[in-house]
Amino acid sequence: MIHESVDGFVLRTDDYKDNNRYLSVLTADKGRITLLAKGSRSLKGEQMAISQPFVYGNFEYYKRGDFNILKGGVCHRSFHGVSEDLTKYYLACYLCELMLEMTDEGEEAYELFRLTLNAMHALEKDLFPLSLIKGAVELRAAALSGYTPDLSGCAFCGKHNADPFYLHVMNGQLICADCLKRIGTHRYAHSDEEVRAAETIVMLSPAVTAAVRYCIDAPLNRLFLFSLEDSTDLTAFARLAQTYILSHLGRGFHSLAFYESLDTPC
Ligand SMILES: [Zn+2]
Repeated sequence: MIHESVDGFVLRTDDYKDNNRYLSVLTADKGRITLLAKGSRSLKGEQMAISQPFVYGNFEYYKRGDFNILKGGVCHRSFHGVSEDLTKYYLACYLCELMLEMTDEGEEAYELFRLTLNAMHALEKDLFPLSLIKGAVELRAAALSGYTPDLSGCAFCGKHNADPFYLHVMNGQLICADCLKRIGTHRYAHSDEEVRAAETIVMLSPAVTAAVRYCIDAPLNRLFLFSLEDSTDLTAFARLAQTYILSHLGRGFHSLAFYESLDTPC
């Protein structure tokens, strides 16, 4: 029997057949792993403490056939504080759903793991506006998963700064207002259908352009250390980030729908 031990963060728990619980755990080295906590109703002490959502801990398990059976572990930190506020709770759930979607079993996820822990810490401690945290995580997660926009400048004339820029959400290219006027929205978007598809081409003010560039390139431990003074810019930034990730993933999320129903900025 092979015994394993790994640090991880619980993205989701699913109760199964009355007395078992599956844990979806995000780890740095092994990506996402699934652990089975058997007899979850009678789990005691440490095992119970680490079989909860939003827990960062060390998990000890052994492999039996296709299953990883949880043996024990240690809770390093529980971010249960995010559950004290419904808006924060649904945002935390959404970010966890996002990581479930963007990680694979056995594929290292070092940066997504760090990103998730940093986001949970920032959410729990109210360190930054929720829409800033959400947008920064969405953009960085997209970039880490291979959907990196090319933000170096206008894809047509090379201009580094423009007021405004436009971002083609699907091909990740910037285009300046002059080039867009010259080329024409319909030709740039390739088809009428793409133009009609919600927000295929999104306008970026200079402040939003700078914020998006920052989120892609900043060191992970400084990711949230930017601000958008103008609330219009913050809303536009948050909307763009959400549109960008959802368009590339081609799906929505239940927890995001709940979050949005709470009348949040984005
Ligand atoms: Zn241009």
